[in-house]
Amino acid sequence: MFGEGFLSLVTNKDAFDLIFPRNCLHCGDIVPEQSKLLYLCPDCLREIELFKPPSCRTCGFPFYGIVVGSRSCPHCKELDPTYNMGRTICRLDGPMRGLVHALKYRAGSFVLRDIVDIALMATGIKEFLNESILVPVPLHPIRQWKRTFNQCELIAEELAERVSSCKVQSLLRRTRWTGSQTRLSRQERCRNMQDAFDLKRGISLNPDTRYVVVDDVFTTGSTLNACCSVLRRFGATNLDILALGHG
Ligand SMILES: [Zn+2]
Ligand SMILES: [Zn+2]
Repeated sequence: MFGEGFLSLVTNKDAFDLIFPRNCLHCGDIVPEQSKLLYLCPDCLREIELFKPPSCRTCGFPFYGIVVGSRSCPHCKELDPTYNMGRTICRLDGPMRGLVHALKYRAGSFVLRDIVDIALMATGIKEFLNESILVPVPLHPIRQWKRTFNQCELIAEELAERVSSCKVQSLLRRTRWTGSQTRLSRQERCRNMQDAFDLKRGISLNPDTRYVVVDDVFTTGSTLNACCSVLRRFGATNLDILALGHG
């Protein structure tokens, strides 16, 4: 029914965009062709406040105003981090929330490029990831089977594609089902995460390697902290964490 002309038209990106314009995942407006991102319009991108130092050393939340001596924000006071430094990209609300939800709940690997573009726009993130091994937070096998993918693994892989000195190693596994944590208090989350992870069998860690554990969200930090404790127990000494959204 369609001729060769149509086929060459749809394989041309610009022409494809003309026929099937992409809509912004957050506001629904058409994303203009020359936009930096594929699924977020420039206005919604501007809505995202990227975190930058000076920030909390544990969760990456920025300190506003003058900072005197404090390493951690009030949010992290009760967390005893087993890692050196935590960075997060922005709050998990508005447009970033839409992107992360599309990735997790709508199998939206098409938004990965945008998510990582935004992450790399944050001050110092490229340098922070430089020459590190990215370790995705693992999902429980049943959850991974249901979802068919682990979003943290996809994010880590896309980051490593873009920061060429990084590699991804899925070193950890979940040892038990921890359920949904959304209704749990900070203490309950911490308890719930104890012994929830282990090192995969047959893996040995290099104390000289810098490992950055990657998650999609930093809420209380208990998940990332539990992952880092396992890596530390098995010999890693240089540990940091990165999460996309803070919330
Ligand atoms: Zn928009
Ligand atoms: Zn903090």
